Amino acid sequence: MMLRVSEPILGDEERSALLDVIDSGWITMGPRVEAFEAEFARTHAASQAVAVNSCTSGLHLSLVAFGIGPGDEVLVPSLTFVASANSILYTGATPVFVDIASLETPLMCIEDAAAKVTPRTRAVLLVHFAGYVLGRDLWTAFAREHNLILIEDAAHAAGARSAGTFGSAAIFSFYGNKNMTTAEGGMILVADDALAEQMRRLRAHGLTSTGYERMAVRSSSYDVPMLGFNYRMDELRAALGMVQLRSLFEWNEKRRQLTGTYHQILRAQQDTVVMPFALEYGGGTADSSYHILPVVLPPDAPRSAVMRRMLEDEIQTTIHYPPCHHLSYYERTQPGVLLPKTEEFGRRELTLPLYPGMETDDVARVCLSLQAAVRHAQHEA
Ligand SMILES: *Cc1c(COP(=O)(O)O)cnc(C)c1O
Repeated sequence: MMLRVSEPILGDEERSALLDVIDSGWITMGPRVEAFEAEFARTHAASQAVAVNSCTSGLHLSLVAFGIGPGDEVLVPSLTFVASANSILYTGATPVFVDIASLETPLMCIEDAAAKVTPRTRAVLLVHFAGYVLGRDLWTAFAREHNLILIEDAAHAAGARSAGTFGSAAIFSFYGNKNMTTAEGGMILVADDALAEQMRRLRAHGLTSTGYERMAVRSSSYDVPMLGFNYRMDELRAALGMVQLRSLFEWNEKRRQLTGTYHQILRAQQDTVVMPFALEYGGGTADSSYHILPVVLPPDAPRSAVMRRMLEDEIQTTIHYPPCHHLSYYERTQPGVLLPKTEEFGRRELTLPLYPGMETDDVARVCLSLQAAVRHAQHEA
């Protein structure tokens, strides 16, 4: 009865894939991880993929591999999950928060990014918010013009057509609420072979060989020529990922259809909400994985009242995102950041249920509840 914001699809195939790993006697990084990397790369038309234990560690690993460190600045939207900004801080570099373009297109604003470039700026971390991959050529030109490394935070964008095709690296998340899941897990797509090799080393303490390789050749010696981390994926997760990957495009297609129904119904109720990505959605041809369904509430409809009312109809909603620069850690360490559009979006945004197990009737139910909740909240306010 309760409609959740997102729900993973897990079944018999995942169960038997996990049992196979257990029966195989080798559970840590080995041939299944390698096969999952190859398959994920093939699916996204990329040459190299490096599996890691989360998108967050993949972001950190990528920044380290590109030599980002203390004294450097990295441009990043504040409208993102805190992991994007945290990964920059882990390297000793400084995240420089950039505003969104508009409520309708809540992605990093290229003009604001240009205004924030300094001699210290080394990279730009582009976030494909809600799964929408926009401005590929513009950002490529931007990075070239300012001599910056372009990195894609593609946590939302697994299966989107051009995700991972233009950044020097793109990092995906397989957390439980993402478009495909391994419970925890992530993947880096990278074009450069030498860089991929460097990332594989950094992933496993900087060691010159993996445990599986040493087992295979019965050797126990290795060297550590660099400071690495333990960001390895394991065979259980890779086996889950292989199964999930087989359904990714079918699930994203279902998300696209459900998104279309949301747009149809909510466009007809024009005064209820602003629909981000309405232009990009168009006839449903957006370059997107349709990860979440964000709407922007009218300014006179308090969000907490709308959420409470919808919960009474057994509909869960969430917020993407409280702006990073307003989180108390960031407010304390980087006070005085002003991003008017991000702040307005952060105040008014509401995320509605969207996952492949939903049906068209569920979307209609959510829209009806949303409309009533907005009217009610406006009346009370
Ligand atoms: C989920 C998410 C991450 C972090 O992913 P994990 O796999 O949980 O580390 C990073 N960036 C964005 C935009 C996300 O949504």
